[in-house]
Amino acid sequence: MDEIILKGVKVHNLKNVDLTLKKNQLIVFTGVSGSGKSSLAFDTIYTEGQRRYIESLSHHARRYLGDLPKPDLKKAEGITPTIAIEQKLQGKSPRSTVGTLTGIYDFFRILFAKIGVPYCPISGEIVQKQSKDKILQKLEKLPFKKRIYILAPLARQKKGEFKEDFADLLKKGYTRVRINQEFIDLTEPIYLDKKKAHDIDIVIDRLVLSEQDQSRLKESAHQALEIGKGSFSIYDPDSDEQTLFSEHAYSPKSNLFYEPLNPQDFSFNHPKGMCEMCHGIGTMYEFDLEKIMDLDLSISEDCCLISSSYDTVRYKNIYDNLARIYGFSVKTPWKKLSKEAQNVFLYGTKKKWTEMRFRHPHKNTRWMEYVQWKGVLFEAHKRLIKATSNLYQTKMHALMTLDICPSCKGSRIKPYPSACKLAKKTLHDLTSLALDELLDFFQTLQLSTEEKKIAEELLKKFKKGLLF
Ligand SMILES: [Zn+2]
Repeated sequence: MDEIILKGVKVHNLKNVDLTLKKNQLIVFTGVSGSGKSSLAFDTIYTEGQRRYIESLSHHARRYLGDLPKPDLKKAEGITPTIAIEQKLQGKSPRSTVGTLTGIYDFFRILFAKIGVPYCPISGEIVQKQSKDKILQKLEKLPFKKRIYILAPLARQKKGEFKEDFADLLKKGYTRVRINQEFIDLTEPIYLDKKKAHDIDIVIDRLVLSEQDQSRLKESAHQALEIGKGSFSIYDPDSDEQTLFSEHAYSPKSNLFYEPLNPQDFSFNHPKGMCEMCHGIGTMYEFDLEKIMDLDLSISEDCCLISSSYDTVRYKNIYDNLARIYGFSVKTPWKKLSKEAQNVFLYGTKKKWTEMRFRHPHKNTRWMEYVQWKGVLFEAHKRLIKATSNLYQTKMHALMTLDICPSCKGSRIKPYPSACKLAKKTLHDLTSLALDELLDFFQTLQLSTEEKKIAEELLKKFKKGLLF
């Protein structure tokens, strides 16, 4: 039967409607507000399809799902099981897909956090657990005379005021915490917005690394591992760099540690999981180099249409410093600059902070500054986000093209969760499959006894969700 035939529909304000619809077509119901579009689509066709499907299931399944009331109609033919994607306002987010709206993605998140195999995104190898002793051994290799803070994690993107935690810490003798990148004394009153998510670390110790203080360093690190439930960080306040150490996951090839993965790490809607570059969208507008670069001009002649001008004191100094440090000339035409020089100018320096010498060309004053140079593209994006003028935004967008996000390659989440695999497939691989392929994947998925124990109940629900 390739038609849906409805007779005598009286759902809500529908007045005895007779209707025949062709299957496998995109059909649109239009009409003024209150004319019964939703009554027909959701409350009649969708509900009747669901009701019939549930009726066809076993007694056990029906008890679990509950019976649905029959819509008010005389006759309905040709209706098969139905799926409804509702017109929810939250669906306006560009992050929504059919998968997220139907809830499949939430199953994936939990499943990957529970039985996914974590890989290091840099080395590509499966990460391993690391013993306390091995971690402490690594600390011996840290260079002496460096000032460091030892930090144990208390909360990651967690909402709350943390009043009791702070009082408790103070009682235990800790005096400082870092809240959202800022160091704060626990003896001062701390007010946190309970509706906002916070990152909090406990400062376990502050010390200057030296031969004599090796045992203190290890003691503090040991303590940080205990308090941080298996992970802690060493923070260098001079370079603002932080190194994570963790018992949970370590990649010997890249020498990088990772924290355990939770369902939020797989969410592109949660700050803990979302790709920082595209904010969980998976695609982003990037400046088109062909449109913004004049190949024959040099940096001193403003070869880039969107960069801050060489004629300003600040940027003349920054570009001159980059040229001095990376060994190129600001007077060389863009096309003749090395790839490395071009990359530094466009995408920034690998080093987080660069010491730069500044000179005022007219006043002839000199000073030093630490500059975090992230490149002209980053700066242009920042200006665009802050811009309020429509004219400026339109002008900038004309110089951009929509592309897959270079950081997450479309997976929309951070590199570490993005590299995690289930039966050799990443979360992004699975979301790219068609529904029937996905069903096939889960029907043939081989799990160890241990994994089965953890995920069986979840998988059962999941398969039912797919079949439904
Ligand atoms: Zn991204």
